[in-house]
Amino acid sequence: ASRFADVAQAPPDPILGVSEAFKRCTDPKKLNLGVGAYRDENLKPMVLDVVRKAEAKIFAANKDHEYLPIEGLDTFRKATIDLLLGAGHPAIKDDRVAVIQSLSGTGSLRVGAAFIARFLPKGTTVYISNPTWGNHRNIFADENVEWKYYRYFDADTVGLDFKGMVEDLKAAPAGSVVLLHGCAHNPTGVDPTADQWAAIADLCKERNLLPFFDVAYQGFATGDLDKDAFAPRLFVDKGLEVMVAQSYSKNLGLYGERVGAMSIVTSDKDAATRCLSQLKRLARPLYSNPPTHGARIAAEIVNDQELFTEWKAEMMGMAGRIARVRGELQAALEAKYPSKDWSFVTRQIGMFSFTGLTPAQVDNMTNKHAIYMTRDGRISLAGLNSAKVDYLAEAMIDSVR
Ligand code: PMP
Repeated sequence: ASRFADVAQAPPDPILGVSEAFKRCTDPKKLNLGVGAYRDENLKPMVLDVVRKAEAKIFAANKDHEYLPIEGLDTFRKATIDLLLGAGHPAIKDDRVAVIQSLSGTGSLRVGAAFIARFLPKGTTVYISNPTWGNHRNIFADENVEWKYYRYFDADTVGLDFKGMVEDLKAAPAGSVVLLHGCAHNPTGVDPTADQWAAIADLCKERNLLPFFDVAYQGFATGDLDKDAFAPRLFVDKGLEVMVAQSYSKNLGLYGERVGAMSIVTSDKDAATRCLSQLKRLARPLYSNPPTHGARIAAEIVNDQELFTEWKAEMMGMAGRIARVRGELQAALEAKYPSKDWSFVTRQIGMFSFTGLTPAQVDNMTNKHAIYMTRDGRISLAGLNSAKVDYLAEAMIDSVR
């Protein structure tokens, strides 16, 4: 018998497990709307032209494969904070941002969680939206950081439960951390308005809460990289110190390259220097130093005026394709089932639509129609094209009727 006989089987991941089941499915009509990964109109993975151009430059320069410093590639660290705050932002000029390149969004959040566990007072709780991306709970729980939900989604209005959110954050103990999605909330596609963001920032100030932004979809809400950084910029401009985890999986399509950063915007340079030293101390025994290739790509693009401009156009193209299939899906649903209100489909933004399908209805989508999606009722519109809209609409109607 194995010494590991008592190791229980772990359940499949609720999101990546969907892709595994999709791969096993032999139905030719099958459709994968599970994972939030961008697909072109032929539903094939897409490599951005700017990424190919940046890679050509990198290969031509014949670079080596030495270790990066623990904190990552300097040109990437500059690029990532420029993208977040806007080049020339006072916080950058004052040198009061601690930036460490880390393993995409997930690894950056995890380093952030480790930082909270070690340097914030014992028992500090992280408040996460209900619902949220499924991995948030694991990331904090695995670092022994306590987490609680704040109200976020109102199923009746298919919108933001702003009143509930404010009540819950007002009731949070001073010093708590509030995890906020920078834009294009996953899974709901519902973001606060500009005024609501301002009120949340003021509340964080009043109640001494520490905002922690998860920025995984910059560019996918409006198609505009600057507009999508509105919330973190507003908080910093209001004088709040913030933690930020950034991911380049979606907006540069660098999923497998694990490109991201964990940053802390502080109120003075000295605090930033000390925070960076501790972020490095946390990363060293976790993974030593981050990978090189994807960081070089992101740095080439953001630091080069011409490539950056080209990226903005490609970003707009990806966001635009998603917005178009959103419109087509809503129109198809309205045509086939006019007595139901389907307006939520185009009111929601980003990669996802939160359909309100129950777990049993999701099972019907998958088992009867070979449409793969997470059991919370979320569909990734990045995995949909015009040719499949009718099929999806009919399956949704069959499942809710
Ligand atoms: N945060 C959110 C809200 C996400 O949806 C994702 C990706 N699904 C991530 C973080 C992290 O993704 P990655 O580790 O690929 O950057």
